[in-house]
Amino acid sequence: MITSSNLGFPRIGSKRELKKTLEKFWSGKANEAELLNTGRLLRQENWSFQKEQGINHIPSNDFSFYDQVLDTTAMLGAVPHRYGWQDDQVDLKTYFAMARGEKGRVTAMEMTKWFDSNYHYIVPEFEKEQSFRLSSSKVIKEFEEAKQLGIITRPVLLGPVSFLLLGKSKQPGLDPLSLISNILPIYEEVLNQLAGVGAEWVQLDEPCLALNLSYEQRASFGEVYSRLSRVSPRLKLLLATYFGDLLGNLGTVVSLPVAALHLDLIRAPLMLDRILPIVPKTLSLSLGLVDGRNVWRTDLDNAIEAAKKAKEKLGSDRIIIGPSCSLMFSPVDLDLEVKLDKEVKNWMSYAKQKIKEISTITKVLNEGDASAKDALLESRTACAERKTSPRIHKLEIKNALKNISPDMFNRLNPYSVRKVQQEELGLPLFPTTTIGSFCQTDEVRTKRANHRSGKLSQTDYDQFLRTEVEKTIRFQEQVGLDVLVHGESERNDMVEFFGEQLEGFVSTENGWVQSYGSRCVKPPVIFGDVVRTKPMTVDCWQYAQSLTPKPVKGMLTGPVTILQWSFVRDDQPRSVTCRQIALAIRDEVIDLEKAGVKIIQIDEPAIREGLPLRQTEWESYLQWAVDCFRLSSSGVRDKTQIHTHMCYSEFNDIIEAIGKMDADVLSIETSRSQMELLDVFSKYKYPNEIGPGVYDIHSPRIPTSGEMKDLLLKAMEFISPQQLWVNPDCGLKTRSWEEVSPALDAMIAAAKNVRTHIKEHCK
Ligand code: GLN
Ligand code: ZN
Repeated sequence: MITSSNLGFPRIGSKRELKKTLEKFWSGKANEAELLNTGRLLRQENWSFQKEQGINHIPSNDFSFYDQVLDTTAMLGAVPHRYGWQDDQVDLKTYFAMARGEKGRVTAMEMTKWFDSNYHYIVPEFEKEQSFRLSSSKVIKEFEEAKQLGIITRPVLLGPVSFLLLGKSKQPGLDPLSLISNILPIYEEVLNQLAGVGAEWVQLDEPCLALNLSYEQRASFGEVYSRLSRVSPRLKLLLATYFGDLLGNLGTVVSLPVAALHLDLIRAPLMLDRILPIVPKTLSLSLGLVDGRNVWRTDLDNAIEAAKKAKEKLGSDRIIIGPSCSLMFSPVDLDLEVKLDKEVKNWMSYAKQKIKEISTITKVLNEGDASAKDALLESRTACAERKTSPRIHKLEIKNALKNISPDMFNRLNPYSVRKVQQEELGLPLFPTTTIGSFCQTDEVRTKRANHRSGKLSQTDYDQFLRTEVEKTIRFQEQVGLDVLVHGESERNDMVEFFGEQLEGFVSTENGWVQSYGSRCVKPPVIFGDVVRTKPMTVDCWQYAQSLTPKPVKGMLTGPVTILQWSFVRDDQPRSVTCRQIALAIRDEVIDLEKAGVKIIQIDEPAIREGLPLRQTEWESYLQWAVDCFRLSSSGVRDKTQIHTHMCYSEFNDIIEAIGKMDADVLSIETSRSQMELLDVFSKYKYPNEIGPGVYDIHSPRIPTSGEMKDLLLKAMEFISPQQLWVNPDCGLKTRSWEEVSPALDAMIAAAKNVRTHIKEHCK
């Protein structure tokens, strides 16, 4: 028989129960018992649902109060010294201290993106001769908890090699992988205990196998998995890979002595044909045929066909059907979307629906088409409609794409000619500006929520927004900024705001996925060809500009960021979708210019995180991403100044591509790592203007004008005064007016100081 399986279920709860309880717990409004109880209920609900759907291998230990990598850190007792932990087990207090820090006592561990997803994990920290010991029984407890409910689960562990490779060494010269022999005994102990309490399968996730590995890294898998597979004859190991093709690692992986290997056949469908001829007789294959990273309904016929191919070669007993990766990257339950456009909804599938799809695929393979006639028919109809629907396929945009000419990617003249903008705008040396958003106070949020729920009329809401804009403009005039913004108080989110106005997008009510800890995001869904039907930001800009003689920037989100922070259609390449968005933004840019805008900022904070996992694919990605930005920004006259903004980025390795975007002015997040900035610009001469963020808006600390002046002077070692702008490192929406006011005063003072400094030095 073919087995059905899941690699992980979303833990946030269909109504974000985990978020709510966690935040109550952190603020002291819920006690530990309530938090533990919420966790228990969520696990129980998830397990029971999967059981009802007939899933054979149901995961456990996929639940987490914060992050599965942090759970592994806790399991191994890899708690950094600064948390002062000495107990037997890692308690909740230590766990959350590592995750979030404790005010005035200790900082959090670093957080970074989980591969190419929008999920963030807590980065393990390593030092030489670090000792490890089993310090959490979470995986055992959760297995037993499910067992008591009559469910024998397949516990999930982050594999030891990936755990080390995902961590960071705190000492120069320490290769985290050298610690492998220190952590292996703990993994052996855990496997042994799991076998003892009745586990039959354990899933070991080794996502690093989708990356380029060194010879040593690849070789380590052999040793590690032969040791782990010897722990107990009763325990079968499933090695799970996902997020990409195994390419050069495939040979290594098939020879590992594990019982089953999981492949992501959504990201890498062609891998199946390559692996089937070389699968050893002792190895089962787990086929990831249902997309865990997106919201689309599975084409069941396609999936079944692929599985049949594998079945013919290996026989039913050696086939497992599953999602491409854990379903934690999918929203929970499509049935909760009551307001969603019916037609579009019918093309979609969230975690619960995906579980049903896995179940159906398995059933059909085991019992034939007749066993799931209705489900098959429904899938066929939906997939056929999606292929031809005029809601998705629009001739006008397909033609517009065809008619893009090479000159549309270029400004009329190079920057060296365009740079007279500065004088035209009447800007001083070291012009000061902000990144766009101003404080999103409780009042702003409440009004928006009331407007959404219908409690506040459109007229009253518009009136409120206008007062906000006016307040923001007056504030900036008073502080003495040179280039103003309207403050973005009308935007709930910089991507959703545009998604709601463009055709080809839908917003969901419940499409939440975990971003980190208790934080969730709700990306809009791009289901069809993207068309802009009307100006999106012109009115608002016009109003803001009418209030002041100083230039007000037009504010847009760039095509790559809109793409990156949405669920994207899977029926055409991402690059094509991105071009469509670029054309829509281009039209908006042109309309803004027509309305009289002199400066337009097109934010691209997500450009770096779109980089493919394999470096060999970087160049082609950067090519189309940069092209899309240029397409969106190049429709204006030389006189119109284009800004872009980037943050959260280690931009060192892509700085040349950033230069190729050819924005007149780039503002970037650097204030937390000045040294890196120096490093980049000592090697690469940035050609246009640049505003290295001098005020770290992520911290409540108010910077002094002295330190900001020092940062500017430092930047001047590599960037000429004529090129420098003065600005915070990101939008101010998370800060309060009480913080922003003195911080911007200090920033303006710093700009004035460097102006005087320059005058004196040029005498
Ligand atoms: N203009 C946006 C803001 O100021 C930019 C946000 C971002 O870079 N993430 O909020
Ligand atoms: Zn930013």
